[in-house]
Amino acid sequence: MRYFLTTAIDYVNSRPHLGTAYEKITADVIARYHRLKGDDTWFLMGNDEHSQNVFKRALEQGKAPLAYCDEMEQAFRETWAGLDISFDDFIRTTDRRRHFPAVQALAQACLDNGDIYEGTYEGHYCVGCEEFKPEKDLVEGLCPIHKTKPEWIREKNWFFRLSKYQQPLLEFYEAHPSFIEPEVRRNEILRFVEGGLDDLSMSRAGQSWGIPLPFDPKSVVYVWFDALINYAAAAGYGWDQERFRSRWPANLHIVGKDITRFHCVIWPAMLMSAKLPLPGQVFGHGWVFFKGERMSKSLGNMVDPLDAAKRFGPDPLRLYLTKEVPYGGDGDFTWERFEEKYNADLANNLGNLVNRVASMSERYRQGALAAPGSRSAVLAGAAETAVTAYTAAMERLALHEAAAAAFRLISATNEFVATNQPWALAKDAGKAAALSSVLYDAAEAVRIAGVLLQPFMPASAAEILRRMGTHQPAPELRLSDAAWRADAARQIINDGALWPRIEDQGAIVVSETPTRETAEKTETSETKDAARGAGDQAPSVTVAETRTAPATSDGLITIDDFMKVELRTAKVLTAERMPKSKKLLKLSVDVGEPVPRTILAGIAESYEPDDLVGRSVVIVANLAPRPMMGLVSQGMVLAASAEGGSAMLVNPEPAVPGTRVR
Ligand SMILES: [Zn+2]
Repeated sequence: MRYFLTTAIDYVNSRPHLGTAYEKITADVIARYHRLKGDDTWFLMGNDEHSQNVFKRALEQGKAPLAYCDEMEQAFRETWAGLDISFDDFIRTTDRRRHFPAVQALAQACLDNGDIYEGTYEGHYCVGCEEFKPEKDLVEGLCPIHKTKPEWIREKNWFFRLSKYQQPLLEFYEAHPSFIEPEVRRNEILRFVEGGLDDLSMSRAGQSWGIPLPFDPKSVVYVWFDALINYAAAAGYGWDQERFRSRWPANLHIVGKDITRFHCVIWPAMLMSAKLPLPGQVFGHGWVFFKGERMSKSLGNMVDPLDAAKRFGPDPLRLYLTKEVPYGGDGDFTWERFEEKYNADLANNLGNLVNRVASMSERYRQGALAAPGSRSAVLAGAAETAVTAYTAAMERLALHEAAAAAFRLISATNEFVATNQPWALAKDAGKAAALSSVLYDAAEAVRIAGVLLQPFMPASAAEILRRMGTHQPAPELRLSDAAWRADAARQIINDGALWPRIEDQGAIVVSETPTRETAEKTETSETKDAARGAGDQAPSVTVAETRTAPATSDGLITIDDFMKVELRTAKVLTAERMPKSKKLLKLSVDVGEPVPRTILAGIAESYEPDDLVGRSVVIVANLAPRPMMGLVSQGMVLAASAEGGSAMLVNPEPAVPGTRVR
């Protein structure tokens, strides 16, 4: 099957930040999944260069605009290479061979169809958005996004008859319910189009930076009208009709939620006017915040994705962004959380499993695992369940659920190893066959997890497959390789830790030795974990100070330590499920403060929201606020939870909300 997907093309007025990279990473995961399925996949990215902001930025730097864009292209390509983004084609809107003829042909087609007319435009123009802003969209006279006063512009313009397409668009949405995803975006667009559409200015007068209109060479095509056409231009529109027919329409446009309107309203109307087929789907993803704030140049909080990739390599970053952020919703990036998830998912879970399986295979079988001939009763079922859940999630672009499905198989395999204790079997010569099959089954489950993780962590997956003795280069790897095999003898390669655990320096406290360096080297992993559980301490904690708190050396804490945790009773005022989350409930609780607190609690699998209203609970009141799923959770609700079991809330006698628990 042919599969053509695109991302938004990027403004080149600054280098890509982590938010920009998020979109490309998610698109890359989807592209690699389709290649894994064996689809004839074509993944397009590119740069949007005909912006007045780009033009100004180039002049500020004393550069010709095109030379500036050439430099920026290199910066973007460097970033995408550093993140292992596997685009097949990269288009720039200054491409005179492909993009210019496409834009001119499409503008001409719309004119020929009677959808372009001349008029005068007067209005509020935000230079930052490069968009005319209707009066009703301004907040106290300012652009709500840029917080700047738009310019009042009056000029001769060519208009695109967008209003004519209100009804055809509504009919199209009705007939193609999955055209706009996720549903929240679809509803926004439906309300917007139902409210009526204004014609759109599609040219700018008196500018040189842009593509001249074929029927009025003194005007250039408005940057948005120009940019949208890149998708058709790369496919061949206007310069290679045969190529275009074989590639168009796109199956999927991946764009940020802020520009879904352009892609779901204006772009399809332009295509209808030019009598071209419409794309299969537009997916409007959410934003990735940095510590709860949107990354922007003006706030100075842009994370360079290459810095994030340098921390542990591109794969852990790719996994973090796709697994931790429900695709379609908003997410949050903090260095602390990134490290925490790296340790939990990669160092402790997947990495540890790969290392254990490889080292035990080497120790007990010199790496040579014979085929057991029969399927593992336990793990083959877990693998099948994981593959089914993974595939279903991928097909509806629930990337986070697909990654989670692969990790459930990894956890099941870790449990399998813990339960079957190969090290104990190895002591008993009579259990040699059992040991062989436990090792084989664990290696087979790891191999399957490697196949499933290939789109998320391409280099790591290749390394896992190599160590499990079944290396297949990505172009040959198929989703069908995720089927359980009981008949393939293999040679396992033991090659050291895949992802070494990153230690939070401040948490390392136990030592009898005089220097910090030797303290780190001599402690055991058990004491590291115990120290970690004691919580975040300032990195400035010294060995001398930790000695004055000897209670920590036996895993116990002092009453002073305990009193640092502020436990309080609270009353649940409202409770509701979080969309896109199976685990989380959003609670509003009274803690005896003037304003109720919002707390996200992972108890949705154990409690119905309605049953919680009015209940007393105990919360950690002085937990640092945590941005989660676009909200900020202000505390934590205490619950007992058995490993893998359901959560049971700690249930105090009704007390005045805010009463200290100690
Ligand atoms: Zn603006």
